[in-house]
Amino acid sequence: MNIFKKALCAGLVLIAAVLALPLAASAASMQKVTVNTSYAYVYIPGEQDRGETLSAPYYTSLPAGTVDYMTDVASENIPDVGMQTYCFTTSGRKLLKSQVTLGEEVSSIPANTITSVKVSADSKSTKIVIGGNWNVPFNVMPDGITYSGSTNTVSSFSPSKVIVTMDYSTLGTLSLPSSFPADSCFSGVTAKETTNGSVKQVVLTFSLKESAYYGSYARWNSKGQLELEFLNPVDSLKGARIFLDPGHGYNGSESEKDVGAVGNGLYEYQLNYAKALALKEELEKRGATVMMLDTMNENYHLLSSRVEAAVEWQPHLYVSLHHDSTTNSTSGGLTTYYNTPYSQPLAKNIQTALISAIRSATGYQIQDRGYKFKEYAVTCSKCFPSILIEHGFISNPTEIGVMTDAHTLSVIASAEADAIEAFLLQKDMVITPVPEPEDPVEPEPPVEDNRTDYEKLVDLAADHITSFSESNP
Ligand SMILES: [Zn+2]
Repeated sequence: MNIFKKALCAGLVLIAAVLALPLAASAASMQKVTVNTSYAYVYIPGEQDRGETLSAPYYTSLPAGTVDYMTDVASENIPDVGMQTYCFTTSGRKLLKSQVTLGEEVSSIPANTITSVKVSADSKSTKIVIGGNWNVPFNVMPDGITYSGSTNTVSSFSPSKVIVTMDYSTLGTLSLPSSFPADSCFSGVTAKETTNGSVKQVVLTFSLKESAYYGSYARWNSKGQLELEFLNPVDSLKGARIFLDPGHGYNGSESEKDVGAVGNGLYEYQLNYAKALALKEELEKRGATVMMLDTMNENYHLLSSRVEAAVEWQPHLYVSLHHDSTTNSTSGGLTTYYNTPYSQPLAKNIQTALISAIRSATGYQIQDRGYKFKEYAVTCSKCFPSILIEHGFISNPTEIGVMTDAHTLSVIASAEADAIEAFLLQKDMVITPVPEPEDPVEPEPPVEDNRTDYEKLVDLAADHITSFSESNP
């Protein structure tokens, strides 16, 4: 594995060093690795243009107990992250060494035969249980993804199948279920054998009843079977489970609070909380079940703890709410980020709805910075679609004035709820006209303003804090 060559190809300045090659003495030897964390990120070597330093958005994270075989271990200096040590496995994956436990050396990989596939369902979810001989690495991904160019940018997503690929596996005398439960999100399954390089694979293809996919949960049960769980589609917001993550906040110490960006006398964590609260109320009014992290009082400083709380709660989707900042006080605009392909339609809906609603309700021509692929710690779970919204720039006094106004707050919450509803009901996003503010104010003739710039800023900040505390008791 020539790490230097890969790094140069990518045009990245990576300081790569092979830390240890315990297996170099015996080329045929491999070392067993077992996932030791609830979900281990999967990276794919040699896919620089798709972001090798990011966990692969199209590869399922592997649950605790999954076994693979390592041929190489190496460290790389990842920009913004620092030195990371990875294990390179014979299934073609790259796993963080900290997320696996090293086991015995072997000269060959044991065979795995898929012996059973069982499906059960209730109104909430569909469960698939796959039996075999050992906890092989696997992947779960919907079809119907169109990428734009060679990057992770998704241009469209319209799934009709979910494909489960079991590595190091062959088919035994497997009888597949001939009928599926009424509540199941799937209508049928087929199985075939294939190979990926030298790795034998079994591909199970499940047909979706509706063109909807909300990620998957995975665990190995005590019988060594793989249990996969898929949330069923909903036909109204009643029954939908939505997880809200207001960015930053309390981190266990008042003095070291993570306030996020600071600008114009405002703290980002308070604005994030106010937006999340308004969205929670709007979604609940429409019948949804909402879980919102209490970032004012509870410690979610570790970003992984936010995602773990959501994985535990099993939402249909996850929304992280933030505000942007930069040193240039005239820069502005709104951006929505996604990581997994099946989060793209939600990001698209949210971005489109917000730009339209804010412009028409306030007259402020907020810049449309688009919906974009990016990896954030809170957007790369494979268990649910997730997005991160940057609600304008706290560093731009005009923009943050508009974006924290009490009327705008309700316009934003309503547009976001519309976007979420359209996503969950697989409907095209309809942009509804936003009502005029109550008691519209007649434009007044300009008055001479003798305040200094500093005085204007202080007054502006005071206005924002008032509107914030009014909307957030
Ligand atoms: Zn932030």
